[in-house]
Amino acid sequence: MKEIIPAPPAIVRNDYESIRELFTKNVVPSYGRFEIVLSHGAGSYVFDVAGKRYLDLGSGIAVSCLGHAHPGITEALVEQSKKLIHVSNLYFTEPQGRLAAELVQRIGPGKVFFCNSGAEANEGLYKLARKYGHDEGRFEILTATNSFHGRTLAGIAATGQDKVKKGFEPAVPGFRHIPFNDLAAARLALSPATVAILIEGVQGEGGVTPATPEYLLGLRALCDEKKLLLLMDGVQCGHYRTGKFQSFQKILDGVPGGSQFLPDGLSMAKSLGGGFPMGAFWVRTPYADLLSAGTHGTTYGGTPLACAVALKILEVITQEKLVEQSSQVGAWLKSEIERLARTYPTVVKSARGLGFILGIELAENIPAFATSDRPPALQFVNRLHTAGVLTVPAGTHIVRLLPPLNLKPQEASEGIHKIEEVVKSLA
Ligand SMILES: *Cc1c(COP(=O)(O)O)cnc(C)c1O
Repeated sequence: MKEIIPAPPAIVRNDYESIRELFTKNVVPSYGRFEIVLSHGAGSYVFDVAGKRYLDLGSGIAVSCLGHAHPGITEALVEQSKKLIHVSNLYFTEPQGRLAAELVQRIGPGKVFFCNSGAEANEGLYKLARKYGHDEGRFEILTATNSFHGRTLAGIAATGQDKVKKGFEPAVPGFRHIPFNDLAAARLALSPATVAILIEGVQGEGGVTPATPEYLLGLRALCDEKKLLLLMDGVQCGHYRTGKFQSFQKILDGVPGGSQFLPDGLSMAKSLGGGFPMGAFWVRTPYADLLSAGTHGTTYGGTPLACAVALKILEVITQEKLVEQSSQVGAWLKSEIERLARTYPTVVKSARGLGFILGIELAENIPAFATSDRPPALQFVNRLHTAGVLTVPAGTHIVRLLPPLNLKPQEASEGIHKIEEVVKSLA
């Protein structure tokens, strides 16, 4: 009998190793990936191939805004795919028109162009700016240091971080960087060729830094005075992550003159499709017809399938009162990070951000991290993996929390409990 009952094979280990091997052999190694192979998810949790459960406080970098395997998204995908997945932008379809109207209603008078990613949405804004300034020979776009705008050639030229540019010179011309939240520097940097200023409402990759109300209002006035387009990248901080649909609506909430504020162009992606790849940009009314027929396009932009998913996400956010819930849970999370900073000042320096775009700023010189030359944020994120929590590093010292908007209060407290355990072990 003994011989005919073989020992159970180590399937899980084989899955991990064989999938890792597929990547090593076949996938371009452009990402520094964590040693985790994920297989499925449910709500705010994802599971790896060994069955280990992780609380997902990163949402795939601010993308999975309804968590994983949300039945509403599944239903939208299934129902729409039975009708029409794609027809191209040679024709009109109802979901694209309806989604555009929903976005315009939430932002302000203007029109929307649909595309497939954040970088592509920003590309549209660069083209809008060039078209706007073309007849006067103006083309230059000012962007902020520490900004992030995507990985295309123009995206890395726009991004205010040297690490994304290195090795890909010559840079696309027409981009210069100005220090963020410094209005005087913006005015000083203008040249006769300047046509637009592009900023994130909350810098995400740069370390969770919100624009100040004074900066937003000041840039608006400066752009009006100098006939520049004020462009905003809402790819990461948009879609209710701050507690309002767009970050500037939150930052300027209750600020005198704030309710009149609008940028001239605004890019979106990430949470817009909740994991279905899509992007979009909105253009304010006086400029909304600048990109006339034949000047811009993309094959997959605004397919009925993508738009049906995005419409469903907006519906669920409203129906399930996720703006209210995420604002409350976000405020609680931030107060808990502040408590950690008070209790363990040798590990946590400060809490950053607002709503569900939060940062844990780590202290300098945490002794337990001294033995490795890997950035503290990376080492912290790795320890959180062991504890069963997914987060996203930003720069060397900041750990981002970008939870799904439907994160439950008890899941938030589970997350804080596990984060505190890791912090305590480092103190
Ligand atoms: C992620 C991101 C982008 C790029 O989006 P992709 O979909 O990766 O092209 C652009 N801007 C900001 C602020 C982002 O966070």
